[in-house]
Amino acid sequence: MKIKIGLLYGGKSAEHKVSMQTALAVTKALDYEKFEIHPIYISVDGEWIKGPQLNSPAENVGALEFSTSAHSLGSPGFSPALLNAEEERLDVIFPLLHGPNGEDGTVQGMLELLNLPYVGNGVLASAAGMDKVIMKNIFAQAGLAQVDYVSFIRSEWEKQQETSYQQVETKLGYPCFVKPANLGSSVGISKCTNRAELEEAFKEAFQFDRKIIVEQGVTAREIEIGVLGNDEAECSVAGEIVPKKAFYDYKAKYEDGDTGLIIPADISKSQYEELKELAEKAYKALDCSGLVRADFFLTAKGEFLINEVNTMPGFTPFSMFPLMWKHTGVEYPQLIERLVNLAIERHEEKQ
Ligand code: ADP
Ligand code: MG
Ligand code: MG
Repeated sequence: MKIKIGLLYGGKSAEHKVSMQTALAVTKALDYEKFEIHPIYISVDGEWIKGPQLNSPAENVGALEFSTSAHSLGSPGFSPALLNAEEERLDVIFPLLHGPNGEDGTVQGMLELLNLPYVGNGVLASAAGMDKVIMKNIFAQAGLAQVDYVSFIRSEWEKQQETSYQQVETKLGYPCFVKPANLGSSVGISKCTNRAELEEAFKEAFQFDRKIIVEQGVTAREIEIGVLGNDEAECSVAGEIVPKKAFYDYKAKYEDGDTGLIIPADISKSQYEELKELAEKAYKALDCSGLVRADFFLTAKGEFLINEVNTMPGFTPFSMFPLMWKHTGVEYPQLIERLVNLAIERHEEKQ
């Protein structure tokens, strides 16, 4: 019996296009002797559209780009019924979605209610990993070193803007990074070196979220590592990001393609061992499952500071996470298969 995978992609998010590319790559890579692919596309307007079952990689290109009108079920909005049809019960869902409404526990919660196995992190880890303030609080509690940070809620800041800026200046100083708490892909993030920039950055970040985080800016190398597993997790080789710009922003990540990825990262064996230990600690602290990409700063003093974990990291064959696993000996198709099996295993453990 083939495993029926419901591929959930697109999404009402800034990362819609990236998700489309990833879905295409995943459908090309899967072994059709073992799997049946059922594409479920979420449009930018949030409409859920189920495409025809894919039977071979050759069908994919056209099938994934189906137009809204051709396959629309006529019911805009969230449609869990699509996932739960009696006649065609799916075995596992692969939510290839990034950012809010996809990577943040909302879709995961829906899948829990439908009692469907799904790839990746559960509700708690997804939600905590999406909120940079909550995530950093949990890391602090686990004793992981990180940059100093403060957070603000929009309604408070509106009442006491001057105090908010002073707090940043006394606690953190410049340079600092201002970020919406609940986003990814560098959207809404600014680096500030003075008061005028700080004020602008607050305004900008508050356009995306009611909560923001401000962090001390560090000059450091950016080292990442992939973690794969459920209760017992494994780490990939490390990778390094070399941004050609001030920082690794949205454009550098997805449009320019001129950011260097160095895999494996040039770090010593003992540094790698330390990194692995820290990544596993972070994985446990957030109670992760399936996968994460754990991102660190490596300071000039040789200290690793955790920056974040991404619970559904970029997953095209040219993204850091799959490339780190490739260098570890797990090719893209095997990586997908491992994730599907981990999802089923985790679901069975819960029963
Ligand atoms: P996202 O979740 O959107 O990827 P990050 O927190 O990883 O957000 O920030 C995006 C990029 O901004 C990082 O990869 C790094 O280049 C830069 N950056 C973020 N925070 C800091 C910091 N505190 N100090 C120095 N650079 C930072
Ligand atoms: Mg992120
Ligand atoms: Mg990041």
